[in-house]
Amino acid sequence: MNSIAVIGGGASGLAAAISAASRGARVTVYESGARVGRKILATGNGRCNMTNRNASAEHYHGADVDFVRGAQEKFWVEDTLGFFLSLGVMTKTESDGRVYPYSDRASSVLDALRLKLDTLGVRVVTNYEVKSVKRKNNRFLIVPYRGESETADVVIVATGGRAAPDLGSKGGGYNILKGLGHTVTDTRPSLVQLKTETETVRKLKGIRITAEASIDGASEYGEILFTDYGLSGIAIFSLTAYLDKQKTVSLDVMSGTDKEELTSMLTKRAHLMSDVPIESYFTGMLDKRVGQALLKSAGITPLSRPSHTLTETEITRLADVMKKWEFKIEGTMSWNNAQTTKGGAVTREFDKDTMESKIVKGLYAAGEVLDIDGDCGGYNLQWAWSSGCLAGRNAALREENHK
Ligand SMILES: Cc1cc2nc3c(=O)[nH]c(=O)nc-3n(C[C@H](O)[C@H](O)[C@H](O)COP(=O)(O)OP(=O)(O)OC[C@H]3O[C@@H](n4cnc5c(N)ncnc54)[C@H](O)[C@@H]3O)c2cc1C
Repeated sequence: MNSIAVIGGGASGLAAAISAASRGARVTVYESGARVGRKILATGNGRCNMTNRNASAEHYHGADVDFVRGAQEKFWVEDTLGFFLSLGVMTKTESDGRVYPYSDRASSVLDALRLKLDTLGVRVVTNYEVKSVKRKNNRFLIVPYRGESETADVVIVATGGRAAPDLGSKGGGYNILKGLGHTVTDTRPSLVQLKTETETVRKLKGIRITAEASIDGASEYGEILFTDYGLSGIAIFSLTAYLDKQKTVSLDVMSGTDKEELTSMLTKRAHLMSDVPIESYFTGMLDKRVGQALLKSAGITPLSRPSHTLTETEITRLADVMKKWEFKIEGTMSWNNAQTTKGGAVTREFDKDTMESKIVKGLYAAGEVLDIDGDCGGYNLQWAWSSGCLAGRNAALREENHK
């Protein structure tokens, strides 16, 4: 009987293995770690934000986002929920369409996937890090760093990207695909904290505010955390999915209030706080240190004079800064802090309807190893399940046709 090798036992690899084995294929999963699915356990703060009811191509990024449409048409959110229901995983939908297991535990998702692998008789080989895959006599030779090479008729590369290397994905899949003639773009961390100039943020370390964060082309409303290296928090995390070559990130600390309203509000406040020194002008309205940092960024000095001395020009400058508080971007935090990878294997070299390589017949790729990354909110796992199930299904069908 012909065989399918799935390289990588993460979300996409396990979905691919189950999908292929359900169609009668003989499947082996090769996993570099001691256990499969370690990253799944870490997702959604241990709750696993499995998918998002609002998933559509607009929530994805990559050189050719249209590639996602193949999966969107053939195996998308409802199919994914049906897939998990067939494994016994009940789900619930929370705000913004985020879907979680009913149990609130990522381990429920992994346990169900592992149970199904067992039931289907999928062979799982752990501590087996694949170094390369070679074409040999119409078959594939799977070469590990340590141990014996094995052969397969069909290979699915589901090795993930470079994000969170401690959980197994170190970018090894890119070399495997390059060795088979595929092209891989530059990669960088996404859904990660931003490094910025530190003069202002360092003094605000540990303070959380709710604001709208923007870079050229996108904005996200939510929690912002000031740190000693830059900015963190859910809004910043989400924003980095859109990060390209932008040089600044800005915060609107009064989103929902336009500049005119804000200016009038600040003018009234100058009278209200009349004899209070400017350094306490924001007391009762904003965190004290945040208020002082805003005054400083607006160039208002000295802070010891009474609030009623604030001039019209100073108030206008303050309103400007509050609506657009700019921080120079110096980069992102490292792969260890990132949830996903921007860039990867070039998608135009794969068939979007089947995930099969257009260069090497019988080779498939799925998940984060491809140049597709999603927004924060369940979109990345959705891509992993969809592309994995499509690859597994088509790999099995291919085998059927060759029997
Ligand atoms: C902390 C954290 C939280 C996250 N939370 C969410 C969330 O709630 N919702 C969401 O949608 N997304 C979330 N993500 C992103 C999501 O987990 C990933 O995009 C998704 O798991 C990618 O699946 P994958 O199968 O492509 O890769 P991975 O899950 O990375 O799996 C790849 C597997 O391949 C193995 N491997 C790698 N190289 C080799 C090799 N050479 N040989 C053999 N095996 C190899 C690895 O050990 C790993 O097990 C989160 C990510 C992180 C880091």
